[in-house]
Amino acid sequence: LVRLRARLSRSQNTLGKGLLALLSREHLDEDTWEEIEDTLITADVGVAPTQELVERLRTRVKVLGTRTPEELRALLREELVELVGTDMDRSLRTAAHPAAGDGAAARPAVLMVVGVNGTGKTTTTGKLARVLVADGRSVVLGAADTFRAAAADQLQTWGERVGARTVRGPEGGDPASVAFDAVKEGIAEGVDCVLIDTAGRLHTKTGLMDELGKVKRVVEKHGPLDEVLLVLDATTGQNGLVQARVFAEVVNITGIVLTKLDGSAKGGIVVAVQRELGVPVKLIGLGEGADDLAPFEPGQFVDALIG
Ligand code: GDP
Repeated sequence: LVRLRARLSRSQNTLGKGLLALLSREHLDEDTWEEIEDTLITADVGVAPTQELVERLRTRVKVLGTRTPEELRALLREELVELVGTDMDRSLRTAAHPAAGDGAAARPAVLMVVGVNGTGKTTTTGKLARVLVADGRSVVLGAADTFRAAAADQLQTWGERVGARTVRGPEGGDPASVAFDAVKEGIAEGVDCVLIDTAGRLHTKTGLMDELGKVKRVVEKHGPLDEVLLVLDATTGQNGLVQARVFAEVVNITGIVLTKLDGSAKGGIVVAVQRELGVPVKLIGLGEGADDLAPFEPGQFVDALIG
């Protein structure tokens, strides 16, 4: 928690503390409630969720006779945790599938990482490999971003660091065939997980659709995907939502990774994107380093916000 608090960007820390300060005012008049609303909207929470939260807070503060700082903090914490969502399954499916009675061979869990270039896909894939290996899992990486040679190199470097083999193809080669080969290799080696890094060139939506759709279809010849993780750069705010929508049309996203929460990001985007897609934020990126990927836990996140 201390680390999370230290890592979250200043703008987010001030969000929580600012709300607490506003709530602690002697007179909670109309202007103050408006300021609370503005603070949340400025933090990317989105208008509808903000209004719902403020409505609930108002009612509860009214019902609550005394308003000690402890009471207000507890109230705000509870409402923010509720807003971020306690009812979503944030676990990552990373367990291999054992051989089935009907003759189907054992196969690894397959996780595909998608998102626009520059959001932190490759870094996230590398960090995730590291977490899994540290947890005792064996991993194969698939460098299906064949358009940027540097991306495959970058992934391979991560792989070498954590002890995971990287399957890659020729530069400009077919991403779907690399992804297929990576899973094939994972099955042959009997590893627990295959992580597939994909390309995210967004200039033409149809291009992306065709390519990602094909990668997915080809990989699924080995069996259904276990996770499709959409990586979003938290600093892009509402733009990230537009991207999220495009990807959600192409693939069935099972979880969101929100990166760069250590940057100038505003934490409210967690709420907005979950509402938009109906999919939980499962992981957060808190820096460029190998240890800077954490599971997303609403209680901890809110505690880090309100200090
Ligand atoms: P990709 O094009 O989506 O694969 O993006 P990369 O993985 O190459 O990342 C783009 C840049 O963002 C790199 O400089 C990463 O080090 C950086 N990056 C990725 N995740 C984070 C994060 O959580 N915090 C910060 N500050 N930088 C990050």
